[in-house]
Amino acid sequence: RAKEVSRNKYELFAPTMSVQASGRLTIEQELRKAVERDELVLHYQPQVQLQSGLITGVEALVRWQHPKRGMIPPAEFIPLSEETGMIIPIGEWVLRTACRQNKAWQEAGYAPMRVAVNLSVYQFKQPHIVHTIAEILHETGMDAIYLELEITESIAMQNAEQVIITLEELKQLGIQISIDDFGTGYSSLSYLRDFPINRLKIDRSFVNDITNGKDDAVIATSIIAMAKNLNLEVVAEGVENEQQLQFLKNKGCNEMQGYFFSKPLPAESLSSLLSKVT
Ligand code: C2E
Ligand code: MG
Ligand code: MG
Ligand code: MG
Repeated sequence: RAKEVSRNKYELFAPTMSVQASGRLTIEQELRKAVERDELVLHYQPQVQLQSGLITGVEALVRWQHPKRGMIPPAEFIPLSEETGMIIPIGEWVLRTACRQNKAWQEAGYAPMRVAVNLSVYQFKQPHIVHTIAEILHETGMDAIYLELEITESIAMQNAEQVIITLEELKQLGIQISIDDFGTGYSSLSYLRDFPINRLKIDRSFVNDITNGKDDAVIATSIIAMAKNLNLEVVAEGVENEQQLQFLKNKGCNEMQGYFFSKPLPAESLSSLLSKVT
């Protein structure tokens, strides 16, 4: 009987809501310290030129190596870090680490390639974002022409004049811009005309059924054709098999990224896929 009472008591005083809230609070506090404690890690996924088969770039993808919870994927902490503002220090750490790593590969004699970094719209809206990025390039010694920033179509929902100014300033530095997850976001295409961008990344949801689903094949083909006419490069995300690769190659897609070639890998493992210049 006493047991029953105490269990009820427990249930009464530990409602699910507050448990979840405190769990979230813990993660938030831990996320705050993750950068200082060196718990974040970048994996790199190659981008391969379809004509030559050469690796022309890598995308840096962040993971959180949590001491107790193990490897946490970005989908589980990037949204929270955006809500809490933690995306600013995390994003800077990602930029700095990716630039430093790419410079290290170049210095080790590997053929120079781009490193692509995902830039949250919250980072993009920071008033000093261009200055911050320029400082990171200066500090790491990596040439701006090897940096690419991946932004999403949600950028087009921001103040267009300000977005154009920022993008122009980044372009002046020599940085390239790509539109990530293209086709899944904003419905207006006018930003393709107004914004200085270099590359479209076809979202992997369109690539997935490219060889079975008729509609996806039409959409992917149309994106490639449109990109070509706009003088933009086009990268297919999420390429998982040979048939998808051949289809995209035939349609004139420039590059692919996906498990078929390689999953995102730690820097040391990625090195073995790169070719030396010397
Ligand atoms: P994303 O930028 O679109 O990155 C591509 C995602 O697709 C990565 O997931 C990658 O592992 C996955 N992927 C690549 N090839 C394949 C494939 O062939 N099949 C399948 N099923 N998946 C594939 P990941 O690493 O879990 O990242 C998820 C998202 O988290 C990213 O999507 C990006 O939006 C965000 N993210 C990752 N790192 C950062 C970062 O440093 N900053 C910001 N702001 N966001 C980041
Ligand atoms: Mg991306
Ligand atoms: Mg994407
Ligand atoms: Mg994405």
